Amino acid sequence: MTTLDLAYAQDLDRRDPLAGFRDEFLIDDPNTIYLDGNSLGRLPKRTVARLYNAVEVEWGKRLVRGWNEGWMDAPARIGGKIARLIGAQADEVIVADSTSVNFYKLVQAALDARPGRGQIVTETVNFPTDSYILQGIVRARGANYRLTTVDSTGGIVIPTQAIVEAIHPDECALVTLSHTAFKSGALYDMQAITDAAHRAGALVLWDLSHSVGAVPVELDQSKADLAVGCTYKYLNGGPGAPAFLYVRRDLQEPLSNPIQGWFGQRDQFAMGLEYAPAAGMTRFLVGTPPILSLLAIEGGIDVLLEAGIARLRAKSIAQTELLIALWEAWLKPFGVTLNSPREAKERGSHVSLGHPDALRIDRALIEELRVIPDFRYPDNIRFGIAPLYTSFVDIYHAMERMRQILADKLYTKYPTDRPTVT
Ligand SMILES: *Cc1c(COP(=O)(O)O)cnc(C)c1O
Repeated sequence: MTTLDLAYAQDLDRRDPLAGFRDEFLIDDPNTIYLDGNSLGRLPKRTVARLYNAVEVEWGKRLVRGWNEGWMDAPARIGGKIARLIGAQADEVIVADSTSVNFYKLVQAALDARPGRGQIVTETVNFPTDSYILQGIVRARGANYRLTTVDSTGGIVIPTQAIVEAIHPDECALVTLSHTAFKSGALYDMQAITDAAHRAGALVLWDLSHSVGAVPVELDQSKADLAVGCTYKYLNGGPGAPAFLYVRRDLQEPLSNPIQGWFGQRDQFAMGLEYAPAAGMTRFLVGTPPILSLLAIEGGIDVLLEAGIARLRAKSIAQTELLIALWEAWLKPFGVTLNSPREAKERGSHVSLGHPDALRIDRALIEELRVIPDFRYPDNIRFGIAPLYTSFVDIYHAMERMRQILADKLYTKYPTDRPTVT
């Protein structure tokens, strides 16, 4: 038996200690292979019951009393659970707003904390929203600020050394990167880059959207300053679920939230007219949280905590390795390229494959062969592996079906224009 046999994948599933967690999720069609959990995670069954109660009982019957019966505490309570997935303390993480908004808040807070320094370092494979927000902040702050965008060679990974060399020892205020790159899945060395930023006197802000729930993260251990991340990807929190932010404990008092809303106010219901920031992470809240979406996050995080991040990572590595082995044997001969790092330790939990006709191959996979990955411009198909519910056999069949599309040229009947959401 070799890696290319279905029996090999079946055997891995049989020996998988996490296999039972698949039952925690609503899977309406077992023949559809879902490999986009890095974009929108599946629905945990316990979230269905939780939301039903939130609507029917908490909103329907308890009405405004709900605020004192668990709603007000939810951002910190759920943040405390996320903390356990990212190597932080419970009082260092809170749930609020979107990743984009949290990113804005923490970039501004970091720049305010480093007066006289005007350099921000990021790179070209960062997630677009982060780049857009940085560009806007630099424009608004004026001539003393500049963005250094380190370019990648080949679009897959940026060497740590290139980031380190871009950090100006006297001028750098902030280094900010996506810990796992959204397109290639390349993983940064958090410790080395955090250390380099600190040596220069700069702060570091990590976007964990593609790491949290899939890759072990050690924020406290690496002494990272700031972080943000999504809850609707590997945390399975639901479309548009609110995001989280992390501020290392000793930085919470010195930093200020640039959006001074009433949920970040000390003694909020005194309704005083002068702003005074609340203690701890509460000061990074802004306005009323979207309670239904917020409560929908918790079940998915509980499932992840039960599985344990070490076991999730071990399975994710075994699965990305299987996918890459099948790519090499079956797809590479058709000119499909591996657009992710080959080394498991340099890779998050998704694998990108490239082909000039990737957009049309992606459509054939989705529309004809019931495999759901996603497409990233211009020529990338991303296969997201969510070890809680992705099986080894799923990966086997996905690669087998992609081979069929290429061998039979099934993609040629699709148009080359791009749909709204890929
Ligand atoms: C998905 C993702 C986001 C999304 O931000 P939103 O504000 O939720 O739209 C931001 N950053 C990274 C790195 C992402 O992967």
